[in-house]
Amino acid sequence: MKITEHIKDADKTLFSFEIIPPLKGKGIEALYEGIDPLMEFKPPFINVTYHREEYSYKEMGDGLLKKISIRKRPGTVGICAAIMHKYKVDAVPHLICGGFNVEETENALIDLQFLGVDNILALRGDPIKTEASFAPEKGGHRYAVELIDQINNLNNGQYLESLNQNTPTNFCIGTAGYPEKHFEAMNPTSDLKHLKEKVDAGAEYIVTQLFYDNQKYFDFVKKCRSVGITVPIIPGIKPITNLRHISFLPKFFNVDLPVDLANELEKCKTNETVKQVGIEWGIMQAKELVKNNVPLLHFYTMGKGGAVKKIASEVF
Ligand SMILES: Cc1cc2nc3c(=O)[nH]c(=O)nc-3n(C[C@H](O)[C@H](O)[C@H](O)COP(=O)(O)OP(=O)(O)OC[C@H]3O[C@@H](n4cnc5c(N)ncnc54)[C@H](O)[C@@H]3O)c2cc1C
Repeated sequence: MKITEHIKDADKTLFSFEIIPPLKGKGIEALYEGIDPLMEFKPPFINVTYHREEYSYKEMGDGLLKKISIRKRPGTVGICAAIMHKYKVDAVPHLICGGFNVEETENALIDLQFLGVDNILALRGDPIKTEASFAPEKGGHRYAVELIDQINNLNNGQYLESLNQNTPTNFCIGTAGYPEKHFEAMNPTSDLKHLKEKVDAGAEYIVTQLFYDNQKYFDFVKKCRSVGITVPIIPGIKPITNLRHISFLPKFFNVDLPVDLANELEKCKTNETVKQVGIEWGIMQAKELVKNNVPLLHFYTMGKGGAVKKIASEVF
């Protein structure tokens, strides 16, 4: 079922979450152990992130370097199939531009259609470590809007080559939005303009980057509405759970920690105390968002569902 239908059919705020595939070499059981405790909150869907391959260079001893491809977290499509089979809920794969040319993208979409996937979160992807800035694959997309265009074309039966009696896909397309601006955007206005382009190209809902100040989300929704974006805007929430997050999250996700939260975190000396503060803040955020009738709370678990469960128990 499409995310937009789940939202339309609901009479209250829904709960959903995102998981990341395990590191290569690890089994899927730990993933299930993270998902199982969250199923009591009846998520209509679970998102599965996509991680492209990176490169490293190995000294060959003869002065030459060998380029080695490393895919740390493969398995997005397999995990989606496993989730749909095991939990009987929708799985939403993330699909990115980076690392794919348009033909590979089309083949991936055909696989997903055959699998019974109804929703796709269409993203550009971040630059990999060896890139100074995002570099599209040769013959691939530079911006998420181009990926959305391709999915939309397929939804209209337009494959890359002209085929006879082709079956259109029927994907519901999601896109990413940034209440505190995407880190590369020239300014919030240009970021918003490009978000509108993604919606105009066929994105039917927006999932936001994580944020810790609800007011920034409320302001973002207002700005979106003022430029004619009418699709659901799903807030993304990530509880802070360890000391490392305090500097990592603002830097990596380009978000501010509000003064009250930062003051509390500065007093923390252990991961346990940070987690406690993070959970309390998450409960406060989630309750306020629900009070304001957001369609759905989407939690970033990053492989650790314990804090999300504690927050969800207070809210759902
Ligand atoms: C909910 C969510 C889930 C995510 N999941 C994943 C994941 O699974 N895997 C992964 O690798 N990454 C993931 N990301 C990270 C995401 O890929 C990065 O934030 C990436 O840098 C931008 O992706 P985007 O789809 O927002 O890009 P875009 O919408 O293409 O925007 C990228 C930048 O380009 C600008 N821009 C857009 N269009 C144009 C244009 N036509 N001309 C000039 N500038 C333009 C935008 O303002 C922005 O600054 C996720 C992010 C979010 C919010």
